[in-house]
Amino acid sequence: MSLYRGRFAPSPTGPLHAGSMVAALASWIDARAHGGTWLVRIEDVDTPRCVAGADHVILQQLAACGLLPDEPPQWQSQREALYRDALDRLVAAQRAYPCACSRKDIEEALAAQGRPRVRGREAPYPGTCRDGLHGREPRAWRLRVPPGTVAWTDRRLGTQAQDVEREVGDFVLRRADGLWAYQLAVVVDDADQRITHVVRGEDLADNTPRQVLLQRALGVPTPSYLHTPLVLAADGEKLSKQNGAVAIDTAEPLQVLNAAAAVLGLPVQRGTVTDALAAWVRAWPFLQSAP
Ligand code: GLU
Repeated sequence: MSLYRGRFAPSPTGPLHAGSMVAALASWIDARAHGGTWLVRIEDVDTPRCVAGADHVILQQLAACGLLPDEPPQWQSQREALYRDALDRLVAAQRAYPCACSRKDIEEALAAQGRPRVRGREAPYPGTCRDGLHGREPRAWRLRVPPGTVAWTDRRLGTQAQDVEREVGDFVLRRADGLWAYQLAVVVDDADQRITHVVRGEDLADNTPRQVLLQRALGVPTPSYLHTPLVLAADGEKLSKQNGAVAIDTAEPLQVLNAAAAVLGLPVQRGTVTDALAAWVRAWPFLQSAP
């Protein structure tokens, strides 16, 4: 039996659209092609962005397309004890520290350091609270990021590298509003669920070096990564709910699947959904690239 464990981890901010369907299909095919296990995890920690009922719509959409998880789906909102425990461990090891800075404080500190803000990019954290709060009230918790470049290999994109300390800085693990940050939740869950292979959209690729650092800090394994091509909207931007992505219509599952398969370079299939999925598993071009 294969030890492969993969997952699709949608945020329930609305129904699946053409872009998220690509990640769903790719992660399912990759798991099947390896004779592995495929899980679904509903990433509902960012509660202000979640839409009530979207989780069940997503699960129905997946089922209509023949993509059925091998174990019961998990909800991040029910796994908070794991995140709390991970943060406690990082704090005890002095790898995480409390931060009192507001967004404005961060921008002012960067300006004072002569590091102007890059447009469209979150400002890197200037390290203000690294050495203590100096009497200020804690708001968020951050990871103490070590200096140096983090290198990792993507099965499609090849070798990647980022200087996280310089480009991102000490990143947030628990937000000022008390919510768990995506980076912490995803790393804790991938480790707890013994995920060996992460297959997800390329828009998430630049989170990977942060996740690798967090895995190292927690002493958990780094899975292998495959980031899938994005579906672009008419404006050339990544397809998202903001630029008109519509929910996929699962009344025509084969059509939905063929559209996602085309993005992955897989041939058009006719006939039943089951036959189409089986054909794509056989034709999966990324099997050789798995370490
Ligand atoms: N929940 C994230 C999203 O929907 C995906 C997380 C992941 O696959 O690592 O964008």
